[in-house]
Amino acid sequence: MPSGALRMIIAGALAVAVGHRQAAKADPVPGPAGFARATAAGQRELEATFAALLSPDRVRSWHRYFTAEPHPAGSERNNDLARYIAEEWRKQGLEDVTVHRYDVLNTAPRQVSLEMVAPVRYEASLREEPYEADPDTKNPRVSPGYLGLSTSVDVEAPVVYAHSGNPEDYDLLRRHGIDVRGKIVLVRYSNPYSYRGFKALTAEREGAAGILIYSDPAEDGFKRGPVFPDGPWGPESHVQRGAITYDFIVPGDPLTPGWPSVPGARQVKPEEARSLPKIGGLPLSWRDAKPLLENMDGPVAPREWQGGLPLEYRLGGGRVRVRMKVEMDNRVAPNDVVEGRIRGGERPDEWVLLGNHRDAWEFGGVDPSSGTASMMEVTRALGEMLKSGRRPRRTLVFCSWDGEEVGLTGSTEWGEQFADELKSKAVAYLNVDSSASGPDFEPQASGSLAPLVLELARELPDPATGLPLVEALRAARAKARAEARDETPLIDDDLVDVRIGSGSDHTVFLNHLGIPTIGLSFDGPYGVYHSMYDGFYWMNRFGDPGYRYHVLLARIWGTLALRLADADLLPYDLSALARHLRAFVDDLENATEKGRLDLAPLRARIEALEAAGRRLNENAVRALASGAPAPDLERRVNRGLLALERNWLDADGLPGRPWFKHTVYAARYTYAHLELPGLTEAAEEKDWGRAAHQAAILERAVARNAALVDDLAAALAAAWGGTSP
Ligand SMILES: [Zn+2]
Repeated sequence: MPSGALRMIIAGALAVAVGHRQAAKADPVPGPAGFARATAAGQRELEATFAALLSPDRVRSWHRYFTAEPHPAGSERNNDLARYIAEEWRKQGLEDVTVHRYDVLNTAPRQVSLEMVAPVRYEASLREEPYEADPDTKNPRVSPGYLGLSTSVDVEAPVVYAHSGNPEDYDLLRRHGIDVRGKIVLVRYSNPYSYRGFKALTAEREGAAGILIYSDPAEDGFKRGPVFPDGPWGPESHVQRGAITYDFIVPGDPLTPGWPSVPGARQVKPEEARSLPKIGGLPLSWRDAKPLLENMDGPVAPREWQGGLPLEYRLGGGRVRVRMKVEMDNRVAPNDVVEGRIRGGERPDEWVLLGNHRDAWEFGGVDPSSGTASMMEVTRALGEMLKSGRRPRRTLVFCSWDGEEVGLTGSTEWGEQFADELKSKAVAYLNVDSSASGPDFEPQASGSLAPLVLELARELPDPATGLPLVEALRAARAKARAEARDETPLIDDDLVDVRIGSGSDHTVFLNHLGIPTIGLSFDGPYGVYHSMYDGFYWMNRFGDPGYRYHVLLARIWGTLALRLADADLLPYDLSALARHLRAFVDDLENATEKGRLDLAPLRARIEALEAAGRRLNENAVRALASGAPAPDLERRVNRGLLALERNWLDADGLPGRPWFKHTVYAARYTYAHLELPGLTEAAEEKDWGRAAHQAAILERAVARNAALVDDLAAALAAAWGGTSP
């Protein structure tokens, strides 16, 4: 919003607010942030009603239903589940329930095989073994291991062990005189973690003929603890499926990069699609990787490259040769996004979005059907409340995404289709991918929303200990710091993770549309990710027996949604965001050669934003304590706050990947978080001219928002008294 127009809005707000001026001195409201004295108690009561409606038995039965069969993206079963959700939502009382269909590039294996042809013959099974304890593991519809959107290949070549498959690993191979061109690289999933698509892109750039990605027991198998079906870790034949799409460049349907796949939409040719790999590959269990590793010759791999198998890992001198055949069925298929709403009673044009993906590589016990089960319980409870006349003030929009596992596809297409409407209406996007694989609360939030999550973590108890969730968060963060030998004092500001990478459906909302996001999950020991053992049995035996954390997640998710939907003034905390921005700048400066970057102007603007944010917070508290703000002023301040989040967008986007438009938040190619992305990437590449240009873009965004926050704070001050600049 141009600042001239904004000033006119504020001036209008002042005119209506004058009649409502009240005593400025009042105790802060003992309710959730953003609520006035008159509305806080009612909100507390509403939240208690919501919590009382949630049932672990119901969540368990949702979970059984969704995990009964494999339901990968675009499959018939997954589309059936879309219709099932639509039907259930209608019964629950949700409004405007719609199934949006997007015809997108989907992926499935037609035939896959891997054979070691030298020095001995070994036919990899590429299959996971069934176990009596878990009847679902005998389901004949489970697929072999494959990599989503791999290209089709039929190649025979020597194998080189390339550790984690990151660029520095190839540098080490080069130092040993090993060239991977025309060869097949064998890499590990983790150590350190990077998204498998980045491993594929790196292998492609290095000229490899194919890639094999295996699960080493050091990362998610017997080296970590007891394995399935006796423990939560991966057994010998477990395979981590997953896509290798280059969605860190542009997510969504690779054939419609940046625009929605609606009927009649232009499509690029597959060979022109930047997010499609040109390399083929397969995922392997350690059982199938072991014969290869055992027979390798060449130099012994460095100590950090040695894995959990009882053998000496070698780099590969040409002795081991394999034939890899990957015949993929990558073609356009329907992805179904289910949308349902509870229309806002007072501000139907301000939307709080909640989303979870439905597609799973197989049964999706944790990923994502735990989240789907929690979501269905949230909608059921809110539907009940609606039936008894409790309609939220703002609109709640619920989405069940498809194709997340392939390329964040459904959410990206939907976000692109409704981009303009979302930019003007969306208050926040609350994502839950997996809801529970254990008891460890792992909240993430954009800087401005982190205090909202923290506030709730102080109120809700952990079901195992009875202590507030915030206590467990403090303990976990303190432990992580101790392990990293980080001696900076831990403050509550650091408890909610504000460094948000990619890898789930929040991406289009945060990075492309400038909508602040929250991501929620409970985590624990989980070695069966993307394998067929991630199912109902695993959840009931290890992940969340009793479904207490599924229910707690539903409670957190729904309560945050209700607070955002009902708040008198939107609880964005700009001073908190500014403090995090300062930390991001510190990190960048520490990682950059001294004297190369002049970040003083940026720091000055962040200081101004922090001060303005503090004034806005104080004035909001004062206004809310004096009674419900005048409706017009309230509305206009809220509209200003919405505009503010969108101010972080830069129309040109990041150099080289213009779809990513947020100036504060992006992700690395590895999916790792990346703050101040334009500036950071330029500094890392030592392109100081570009860095200065990117710093200027950031300075302007921060300055724009500091001025806007000042205006909003002044508007509140004029109505109720308070601090002005
Ligand atoms: Zn997922």
